[in-house]
Amino acid sequence: MRVVLLGAPGAGKGTQAKRLAEKFGMVHLSSGDILRAEKAGGSELGKQLAQYMDAGDLVPDDVVVGVMAKAVSDPKVAGGLLLDGFPRTVPQAEALDEQLKQSAAPLDVVVVIEVPEAVVIERTCGRRSCPNCGAIYHVTFLKPRTPGVCDSCGYRGEFDQRADDRPDVARQRLAAYNELTAPLIVYYDGREALKVLRFDGGKTPDEVTADIVADLQECQTDGTERTRRLVWPSS
Ligand code: AMP
Repeated sequence: MRVVLLGAPGAGKGTQAKRLAEKFGMVHLSSGDILRAEKAGGSELGKQLAQYMDAGDLVPDDVVVGVMAKAVSDPKVAGGLLLDGFPRTVPQAEALDEQLKQSAAPLDVVVVIEVPEAVVIERTCGRRSCPNCGAIYHVTFLKPRTPGVCDSCGYRGEFDQRADDRPDVARQRLAAYNELTAPLIVYYDGREALKVLRFDGGKTPDEVTADIVADLQECQTDGTERTRRLVWPSS
């Protein structure tokens, strides 16, 4: 299955993406993680990325499309792909469509996680992550079981706050989402053989996962049925 995950920053895409990728055996490609790794590497490209990312602005389309095209063409994604944070603009979506068309592997599902703006800001500004393994926490809603100790890897110490999760930058990122990314829902809606599914991201992370898993399982079954009909047409 090839899935695009859409939602404002703080909608819970990162948390859901990890769970869904594992559940359905999809490769999880997070454009934010890929760009942050490039930035942390300190390359010339990384330095350019920092200017945009630290201000909460989107990185120019041609740069992101180049980086993501390489990741999407990796043979490892042939078994299933979950795109998180990409595409984020209509030109990026067009470039992705073109690339997937050439490999005859179009998108199957667009998952939209919807959360009110006030909640998004509260969630983003309280988000923390483990500097060792990247596990995501929240100062109020998702604390580690033992304070200061990562549930996933046992790291002890301060957790990180992303520079772009600070309040002014978080607002800027939300504005960019509303202006440039939300129109993608209309871009994808109504296409044949592509399901656009919307979910209430205001529920608990476990409830959201359960809702999405149930619907994706249905899509998977539909897909299998379609393939079966293609392979063994009824006489
Ligand atoms: P994220 O972790 O998805 O919130 O992304 C963090 C930052 O990386 C964003 O605020 C942008 O500066 C940049 N970024 C990630 N994905 C994209 C994209 N598809 N297009 C442009 N910029 C992106």
